[in-house]
Amino acid sequence: MPTTVKAYAATSPTAPLTPTTIELRDVGPHDVRIAIGYVGICHSDIHTARGEWGATDYPIVLGHEIAGVVAEVGPQVTRFRVGDRVGVGCLVDSCRRCAYCRRGDEQFCAEGYVETYSSTGRDGRPTQGGYAEAIVVTEDFVLRIPDGMALDVAAPLLCAGITAYSPLRRWGAGPGTRVAVVGLGGLGHMAVQLASAMGAEVTVLSQSMRKQEDALRLGATHYAATSDPDTFSRLAASFDLVVNTVSASIDVDAHLSLLAVDGTMVNVGIPEHPVSLDVLSLLMRRVSYAGSNIGGIRETQEMLDFCAGHGIAAVIETIGAEQVNEAYERVVTSDVRYRFVIDTATLA
Ligand code: NAP
Ligand code: ZN
Ligand code: ZN
Repeated sequence: MPTTVKAYAATSPTAPLTPTTIELRDVGPHDVRIAIGYVGICHSDIHTARGEWGATDYPIVLGHEIAGVVAEVGPQVTRFRVGDRVGVGCLVDSCRRCAYCRRGDEQFCAEGYVETYSSTGRDGRPTQGGYAEAIVVTEDFVLRIPDGMALDVAAPLLCAGITAYSPLRRWGAGPGTRVAVVGLGGLGHMAVQLASAMGAEVTVLSQSMRKQEDALRLGATHYAATSDPDTFSRLAASFDLVVNTVSASIDVDAHLSLLAVDGTMVNVGIPEHPVSLDVLSLLMRRVSYAGSNIGGIRETQEMLDFCAGHGIAAVIETIGAEQVNEAYERVVTSDVRYRFVIDTATLA
């Protein structure tokens, strides 16, 4: 029997999100139904709700930072039992056959992975995300939340955590490397904690000085404001890795000037508009400008376990579902410390 659950949906690029109900698919042989406890608000939810990345298929239930408890399992599920504490991130399925899927990079699936929302599910219906009481997901795309990690502070790890973790690992953040994190929001505050736990020397570059104390508490050793004209000259050529988490367009050349020879700037932020750069910014110190898209399922579990092992979690402000529109406004004005998490009990 399909299950109907309460949810919050966006219905147009400009209308506030409103309460609705959605029908979950039947729990198939390999599916688990998760009673959602908490769901983080990622800036990608806002870009999508507002149609900033192209046409959005409305109505849409956003939310891909999902933490909850298994409520039902299909007959062939082997890895989970009712009552297990679990998470779901941005991926809910992929082809599982292509070279990328086989090596655990489902986020690069050659057939296109199925996103938690704004994709077409295997049942042919639009997928709907976690601003809801429950979700049905195939067990291979469900993560285990480590013991001792509370569900509310775990939820944002499922997107912000893995999106920060994957490039830090790939580009070798560790002892002896100098990492700059640009933008101290949801992704940024995870990148600071993770890079610092990996042993890198971390600098936060924020628009103003107002988040300095927080940045140092999260593990940064240096902090500078990008609004200060001296920052870019003072810090020129001084980083091995710059992780740009900014949700808006930035001056790419100015940020590339911060890289030492052979350094890399990785964009994880996805601004609405294309960026441009002067190729001289790349070739004068042989630097690279790269991007990174979330991370695969295996790596996401590795990140969760790394966080548990290092006592890392998201810093959150918990809200009721009815506060979601106000929270969106605060995220776009960088007034979030550092992730809003919806308590889905307030949907009932
Ligand atoms: P967020 O919480 O809003 O953080 C973004 C931060 O960027 C803000 O806190 C602010 O930091 C800074 N910022 C915002 N507007 C700015 C501007 N006009 N100029 C300079 N700095 C500005 O957003 P988030 O959830 O971390 O997401 C960040 C971006 O990553 C979004 O574009 C999102 O869609 C994208 N994303 C990508 C992936 C991926 O797989 N690559 C995954 C998740 C999210 P300060 O106040 O410190 O300046
Ligand atoms: Zn996200
Ligand atoms: Zn694939």
